[in-house]
Amino acid sequence: MANNKQLIIAGPCAVEKKEQFDKIVQDIYHDTDVIRAGVWKGRTSPIDYPGIGEKGLPWLQEVQKKYKIPVAIEIGTTKHLELALQYELSVFWIGARTTVNPFSVQELAEAIKGVDLELWVKNPIVADLKLWSGAINRFKKNGLRNIKAIHRGFHTEHETIYRNNPRWELLEKFKTYHPDIPIICDPSHIAGNYRYIYQIAQKAIEKNLNGLMIEVHNNPEKALSDKNQQLNTKNFNKLLKKLKYPT
Ligand code: PEP
Ligand code: MN
Repeated sequence: MANNKQLIIAGPCAVEKKEQFDKIVQDIYHDTDVIRAGVWKGRTSPIDYPGIGEKGLPWLQEVQKKYKIPVAIEIGTTKHLELALQYELSVFWIGARTTVNPFSVQELAEAIKGVDLELWVKNPIVADLKLWSGAINRFKKNGLRNIKAIHRGFHTEHETIYRNNPRWELLEKFKTYHPDIPIICDPSHIAGNYRYIYQIAQKAIEKNLNGLMIEVHNNPEKALSDKNQQLNTKNFNKLLKKLKYPT
């Protein structure tokens, strides 16, 4: 592990250009265990940036070979999975908008059967632990052993400073359902703003969570998705140094 304490996952919300991705990786690969890289983005609006798609997969494959570091992406359909496997990717996550849909989860779980890969399941957008747990159980039922959960906060209609409500207390309950599943905190999607990443990441450490997934971009102000919450590579390196772990 990059810091011997927690699994660190970092990279852009979305891969936009080869040069952009290479630049980010070059600056952060020393400090992270896994690179995150969205190529298919399940955006709320059809006019928002949908991701580079299949075109970006060889760039990810190249980075894996060059830096000997795994690159993880979100998959939402069995077609995504099929394509990603062709480019030797083997770490995937299911997004918050996919976890809510048992049909999609079931299809993916069946497609994954017998394939050697690691899968992370993000919590559903709504604060429904049974839905989160049910998605995990669908994958378990299809023989997948290498599963982690990602805590990315929950949609709320109440006024908050964060984009998504962390509801830390729900994680305690989640742990009783799945004591065997490591939990990764995604402070970027909880925060919605790069200024709050540190405080949320620190809280995740205090809560004994097993890792952090952080969005990092070479030029966040110009990012094509989630620009308010992405750290630039310098601030990412600073953040890691600032985090305090219990001794
Ligand atoms: C993402 O990781 O970029 C993403 C879209 O996250 P979520 O599914 O948590 O909204
Ligand atoms: Mn994002």
